[in-house]
Amino acid sequence: MEIALDVVTKEYEGSSSSTPALSNVSVKIASGEFFFLLGPSGCGKTTLLRLIAGLIQPTAGRILFDGRDVTGLPVDKRGTALVFQGYALWPHMTVRDNVEFGPKMRGVPRDERRRLAFEQLERVEMGEFVDRKPNQLSGGQQQRVALARALAAGTQCLLFDEPLSNLDARLRLHMRDELKSLVKSTGVTAIYVTHDQKEALSMADRIAVMNVGEIVQIGTPEEVYNRPATRFVADFLGEANFLDGRISASGNPARIKTPFGELVGLDERQRPDDSPVICCVRPEHVRLERAQQVSESVESSESENALTATIVSSVYLGDMRQYVCTFDAHADTEWRAATLADGSQRLDPGDRVQLTFDADRVVLLDR
Ligand code: ADP
Ligand code: MG
Repeated sequence: MEIALDVVTKEYEGSSSSTPALSNVSVKIASGEFFFLLGPSGCGKTTLLRLIAGLIQPTAGRILFDGRDVTGLPVDKRGTALVFQGYALWPHMTVRDNVEFGPKMRGVPRDERRRLAFEQLERVEMGEFVDRKPNQLSGGQQQRVALARALAAGTQCLLFDEPLSNLDARLRLHMRDELKSLVKSTGVTAIYVTHDQKEALSMADRIAVMNVGEIVQIGTPEEVYNRPATRFVADFLGEANFLDGRISASGNPARIKTPFGELVGLDERQRPDDSPVICCVRPEHVRLERAQQVSESVESSESENALTATIVSSVYLGDMRQYVCTFDAHADTEWRAATLADGSQRLDPGDRVQLTFDADRVVLLDR
């Protein structure tokens, strides 16, 4: 089922807040897509999910399922299901009775609903646990039963609201893979809310990054990570280095004048000369070499995208080593560089270094 939101706004009644919980949100989620809503606490993720489920109504705008306007439809007429971790199952019922509950409510005859329940339980590899109670199952198994129950009830869209947030870190990692393959195997459209960028990057087909009631960017994990549309997105999805500048030669790539020298970066929008921009580079895209004695006085003269800096700290992280560097005239501008900690390079605090990076790793953002 395809799900579309058409300029949806939600203001809670009696809310003292001056900004709506959601403002003019438009998005189209393809049938079978595993779609993520990612953003900080309070940005409107749960509100968006509850609007799709039909638990609350928008103040303005429309919600469409396969092109059909469902905006006024109540929750039980929508064919969506919220799947929460743990408390999605009735504890006093067996696995079979939990999964049969939906069909039973619809008046499906006993033999038929038994067959339907078993079919869905087999699909999530829980066919041999039909007589157990939920408290006799692991968290992952409960999640599977909850999915089977939703599917047996005829759900065409699965809605997850931070389903892994109560699990410990190890189990959470394991469940990411498991939940992803489970959801993809159902072929059902699924929307998943999280504030954890690693969860979103590792599981999503596409991600909508949200901030204060708006969708800031929609794209595949690679697109939003490597081509953030704003400084907020760049920051929220991982570590990023920033440098203010102005376009000195427009085009794609463009040349950018910064306080530390000229940089070259991709500018798909081909902003005009003198436009103020922020250059953004991820730490893992920054290479680090000991600065040559000669180039010290001729600040980053020859090579493109080379900045001279001084290492202020170095942290060993097992697989990686992360360096923090500052620039001579601007000690308050810090840049991070992450290199593989394979022992091939040894640099220490106080060392003068040259930071280099490819033009296609420099993302230009509006300032
Ligand atoms: P998230 O799930 O991203 O943390 P929510 O959708 O829960 O965000 O909340 C978005 C905004 O709407 C917040 O400012 C929150 O305080 C407000 N809000 C949420 N639910 C209600 C409610 N029932 N009444 C009034 N304001 C609410
Ligand atoms: Mg929430």
